[in-house]
Amino acid sequence: LRETDPVIENQITVCVRKRPLNDKEIRRREVDVVSVPTRNQLVVHEPKHKVDLTKYLENQHFRFDYVFDDSCTNDLVYKFTAKPLVKTIFEGGMATCFAYGQTGSGKTHTMGGEFKGKQQNFKSGIYGLVAQDVFKLLSHPKYAKMNYAISASFFEIYGKLVFDLLAKKQRLRVLEDGKQQVQVVGLTERAVTKVEHVLELIQKGSLERTSGQTSANSNSSRSHAVFQIILRKNGSKHIDGKFSLIDLAGNERGADNNKSNRQTRIEGADINKSLLALKECIRALGRKGAHLPFRGSKLTQVLRDSFIGEKSRTCMIALISPGNFSVDHSLNTLRYADRVKEL
Ligand code: ADP
Ligand code: MG
Repeated sequence: LRETDPVIENQITVCVRKRPLNDKEIRRREVDVVSVPTRNQLVVHEPKHKVDLTKYLENQHFRFDYVFDDSCTNDLVYKFTAKPLVKTIFEGGMATCFAYGQTGSGKTHTMGGEFKGKQQNFKSGIYGLVAQDVFKLLSHPKYAKMNYAISASFFEIYGKLVFDLLAKKQRLRVLEDGKQQVQVVGLTERAVTKVEHVLELIQKGSLERTSGQTSANSNSSRSHAVFQIILRKNGSKHIDGKFSLIDLAGNERGADNNKSNRQTRIEGADINKSLLALKECIRALGRKGAHLPFRGSKLTQVLRDSFIGEKSRTCMIALISPGNFSVDHSLNTLRYADRVKEL
């Protein structure tokens, strides 16, 4: 790390990224209603053309640690979000980075990598960029003598169920022992010695996640994907550091309670519950002695060890679609992100 790189002082960083209008939105003549006047501010405007006769929007101002407009690349977003947290896991802490937002807002683009048609460039996503820097730090003179070994796992949380994305979506159980240690039993953990290995695992897990999207039970917008890079002293079982990177379920799934289908309603309630529990757990990070409602959902339960310890660092990247049709979801996302940070 260079002197000029951003340093994260706070335990929690909350950032927002706005993507460009896409072709579909342009064809529907949607208007961009989000602007970024400075590096840490964002304004949601009254659309230049009214959305409809009943909707009239006041300008709403928000402030975050960083706001990325539609000209920002994944590299830049990475530099100000997850990158400063990589060092944490070499110094006995846990690091976590979440992508939060409506389906289609850019979570998988940001975390997994940029799409070229159906192909995804995994090198350009935060998963891959973190992996690259983990190997850089591994050979840094300061840490090389620590004799660390690196491994990775990748799983998906769908409602109350957990599936291994590195083992053909095998279903896994989550157990909590008497010492409140949470374990995902049988989760595949692959030893990795170079960044190319990690990229292969990211590709394998990502394809597994989106395969069979048309079958009733699998749709990546309804599940949370958790990619983890784990650091141990060579030969030891003890985890010295862990970086968890999470591509969350679409938040609109939890917000909409007018669902016709029973299964969809249950899913929506589960997603809502997990996103609320997540917010409370992150908020508790910043407050000493606060209650951690990690049992409130599978997501927070499996991330329990990342929410404790003074050395833990968390970063949330809220993604928003800029179009006027998305304005309600965007405001929900911004309010959620705002609450995460507010003490
Ligand atoms: P989500 O995972 O939140 O549902 P995706 O990451 O799949 O959304 O993004 C939806 C579409 O928008 C994809 O085609 C993706 O390539 C595109 N997209 C997302 N973010 C950006 C961005 N910052 N710049 C250009 N295209 C983007
Ligand atoms: Mg996605």
